[in-house]
Amino acid sequence: MTAILARDPIVETSPIPLFDLKRQQARLRYDIDRRIAKALDHGQYILGPEVTELEQDLAAFSGVKHCIAVSSGRDALIMALMAMGIGRGDAVLVPAFTFSATAAVVIAVNATPIFVDVDEATYNMDASKIDAAVASAKARGLAPKAVMPVDLFGRPADYPALKAAADAHGLPLIADAAQSFGGALDGARVGALAPISCVSFYPTKPLGAFGDGGAVLTDDDELASAVRQIRTHGRQGDGDEAMRIGMTGRLDTIQAAILLSKLSVFKAELNRRAELAALYSELLDGVVTLPEADTETVRSAWALYTVRVQYRDAVRQALTDRQIGTGLFYRVPLHRHPAFGEMLTGEEKLPVSETLANEVLSLPMGPDLTDDEARRVAEAVSEAIASL
Ligand SMILES: *Cc1c(COP(=O)(O)O)cnc(C)c1O
Repeated sequence: MTAILARDPIVETSPIPLFDLKRQQARLRYDIDRRIAKALDHGQYILGPEVTELEQDLAAFSGVKHCIAVSSGRDALIMALMAMGIGRGDAVLVPAFTFSATAAVVIAVNATPIFVDVDEATYNMDASKIDAAVASAKARGLAPKAVMPVDLFGRPADYPALKAAADAHGLPLIADAAQSFGGALDGARVGALAPISCVSFYPTKPLGAFGDGGAVLTDDDELASAVRQIRTHGRQGDGDEAMRIGMTGRLDTIQAAILLSKLSVFKAELNRRAELAALYSELLDGVVTLPEADTETVRSAWALYTVRVQYRDAVRQALTDRQIGTGLFYRVPLHRHPAFGEMLTGEEKLPVSETLANEVLSLPMGPDLTDDEARRVAEAVSEAIASL
């Protein structure tokens, strides 16, 4: 009698990175190659036709009048602050739980960031904390000039509440929308949610270039023209004179060509990200604290899928052991960064930001993640927690 040997089960062990940019590149490679070749042929490396086309498409996508394509998300924020005339002696309110650039840009224009705690459910700036932050800025002899919310992990901040709180002090909003291009709130897209919005095209952002890039979006003619001048050494059009202090802040033509290709599939990618977020939330319900789900009115761009979990570092290690990539965004709240120490009064109490920094864990996310991979990730999280 011949024994029927049980076959080894096929164990799927290929690594799952936090971001997988290779699959997207493979999907789009032909179109990207073609567009880059076209840009090389015409040779207008700086502010070539692709930049103008991208600016028009991004403005139309967001439903705003002006888009200025720039060198990075950080530079977009700096140029917005410069265009608004914010500088020495001024204060800008920023969330304490975000990427360091949100505060660094304020310091780069010689103003002072005032850290505001975030909402525990959405991870975004808590509008109810704005009055106290304004008062604390004034008590320090600073002139509050703007409120700069971040749409963390792609989810638009609560702009109606933030606007109401900022309006009470006569402060405009500047959106740090570095992570949220493609998100929407009450039928309006990111870019149109604040008087001026700044986007990043860093490769791992929802709409990512193959290098650095960013954009400033606004309906305001004067701000748009100021940002355009600042982007090119303060010059007006082809003029020789510096009308104001500017910088080298342009998006490269070749990056614009790449972004045009990515934009052509962006809506489908956003839908896929939302689908994966919903799948994760279904699988991890009751296992970890889930990120707020999309609703009829709030659509996240799902730059990251970030859960909260106790014993975060142990869970992370268990995923690393299974070759599953994770991210800690953000492990240190801004008021604990050495670079911002001089900006602090020592009185800062930002308990929600502190808690989140200890508990957040970002799981693999991206338009090319498969359902099976998301299931493997969720299973690994569940097993890691069960074995604690
Ligand atoms: C990525 C990011 C930035 C900076 O964008 P770069 O394009 O990397 O300069 C600023 N703010 C936030 C919240 C970000 O996530």
